[in-house]
Parts: sequence; structure tokens; C-alpha cells
Amino acid sequence: MGGCRLWHYAEPADALRDALRLSEGMSYKNAVAGLRCGGGKGVLVRPPGPAPSGRARNDALRDFGDLVASMDGQYLTAEDVGMAERDMAVIAERTPHVTGRSRRAGGSGDPSPSTALGVMTAIEVACERVFGSRDLQGRSVCVVGLGHVGLGLARLLRKAGATLVVTDIDRARRADAEALGARWLTPQKAMAANVDVLAPCALGGTLNHESLPTLRARVIAGAANNQLSTEEIGIALAERGILWAPDFVANAGGVVNIGVELDGPYDPRVARERVLGIGTTLAEVFDDAEARGVTTLQAAMDRARARIAAGA
Ligand code: NAD
Repeated sequence: MGGCRLWHYAEPADALRDALRLSEGMSYKNAVAGLRCGGGKGVLVRPPGPAPSGRARNDALRDFGDLVASMDGQYLTAEDVGMAERDMAVIAERTPHVTGRSRRAGGSGDPSPSTALGVMTAIEVACERVFGSRDLQGRSVCVVGLGHVGLGLARLLRKAGATLVVTDIDRARRADAEALGARWLTPQKAMAANVDVLAPCALGGTLNHESLPTLRARVIAGAANNQLSTEEIGIALAERGILWAPDFVANAGGVVNIGVELDGPYDPRVARERVLGIGTTLAEVFDDAEARGVTTLQAAMDRARARIAAGA
């Protein structure tokens, strides 16, 4: 099972590389979350220029729907970056193997609120480790990317009393920042914000050799997939005393929610309980990493691989 992403790539090879990296991450995510599904990712490549809209966009989605249909249920799709419930409805014109459809259409709805809730739980668990309390009142948090997940997360954080700093490459998001009472930073400055917690909720690869020396947060937990540019960055973060919540553990709320839809019938209360279980899983990953003297990434990957090997 995997999401579908609509994004612009400079070269077709970049899209393929991204799809492979993302589908590997989805496999780990589904395994750690206890779903009886492998991982995959659909990537729709669009040519340079403005994003397709209206008919052209729907045509691209229908093409993708045909591709999913040809896999005869081996691949289930859902929302990812650049996608919304209405897009799933268009894909569903061509294939029944679509999850995350609207509640009215019998689905579990947009998965991003569940993803935001899971990330929120991950932040609380990580803060408990580092600062001795999961209470976020007065804790400063920088949310990078105010999209479907980032905005939902920022609202949860504000409700919990956190002091918010936010950013997005889309300046139209400034209105959301103001509504949240959050301080706005440029994307360049956000990674180095002087905050307790950094929550990367845009695209992957932002924890890299360039950003590493500038990081000031002691906790990093966010929704973005593939946050580390290389595995070595995981070691460097640990050496710097920064606690990183592995992305595929922290951001599993959406797939956990979809897992409840697949088990059927969908019950939002069951979904919420299961999403909150991400906190327990993450605490076990942190314990394991500490006990074995390995990075949190290593501990989480070992957990995923053990589950995959066991066919669980
Ligand atoms: P989205 O497209 O709704 O939001 C992404 C936001 O990030 C947009 O507002 C975009 O303008 C902004 N952005 C892009 N590049 C940026 C940059 N360099 N600096 C600052 N902002 C930037 O996507 P989403 O659904 O919120 O997903 C966000 C991330 O979480 C993605 O990496 C996605 O793969 C991951 N994720 C999402 C879900 C989900 O349920 N939607 C589940 C798991 C993981």
C-alpha cells in the first residue's frame, strides 16, 4: 500500500529515485505500524511549468487509476503530497483499489489529520525523553511546511500551549501562521530556528550535511518522509545529542487510519486509539536504540525488517 504524489521533477530519473526511496520507506512504515501490507509509492511526474489543473489534472489521475487497476488489488493507493480526497474520487472512477476516500464515499477520509495526531504523539514522547515532560505548554516548536499535515500539527501544538514558529515556501500560508499566532520565518532560517523541537513537514532530505551544523533543536520529529539525506546523518544527529524520531514511525498515523478502513467497517474511535499507539512504538524504538547503543534509525529499521522477515 502506498500514497500517490503529484510533483515536479527535473529529470525522469529523479522521479524514479524518489519513488524507490519512498516505497522503501513505506515498507518500513507499514511494517512498524503492524499493517499486513507491503509498501509502495505512486509518483506522477509533471512537466516543468504550472501544475496541471482541471481536465489535464483529472486526465493524469485517470491514467494513474488505470495503472492501479492493472495491478488487480496488489497495490492500494491513497493521498500524498499534492493530493486530496477529491483526487482519490477521480482515481476511483477507474479502480476500486483506492483508500482514503471521503467518509461519504465509504472511505476513512483524508489521512493527514491522523498523520498530524501521530506526529504530535511522537513529539510528546520525544520531549519526555529529552526534557523530562511530555507537556508541551511553553515548549517552542518550529513546523516546516504548513500543508495538510503541517497545519493540522500546528493547530494541535497551539492547543497544547506550544510556542510556534512556522514556515512554508508558499507565502499564502502566512495567513494561516497569523491565525495561529505563530512567528513566520523564511524556509532558509527555519531549519536553524532556536527552538526545542523541529518538525519537518515538507519534503524529504532536509536533514543533510548543509543543515546539520545549523540545527539548534534538541528534538526532531515531523511528518516528512525520508528526512535524512543519508543514514550517516542519523549517526551525526545522535552524536550531537539531538533525538530524532524516525520519520516512518512518527508519520504512520495516516496508514494506521487506512489500516482501520481496510479491516472495516471504519471506526474513527478505533483509528484514534491505534494512532496514539505510535507513542508506545516510538518509546520502544528509543529504548532499543539506547540499550544497544545504535541510532534511532537503526533501531526502527531493525524493528521493521524483523516484522517483514516474520511476515507479520
Ligand atoms: P502538502 O503538499 O499538503 O504540504 C507540503 C507543504 O510543504 C506545502 O505547503 C509546501 O508549500 C511546503 N513546502 C514544500 N517545500 C518546502 C520547503 N522547502 N520549505 C518549506 N515548506 C515547503 O503535503 P502533506 O500531505 O502535508 O505532507 C507533508 C509531508 O509529510 C510529505 O513529505 C509527505 O510525504 C509526508 N506524509 C504525509 C502524510 C499524509 O497523511 N498527508 C502521511 C505520511 C507522510
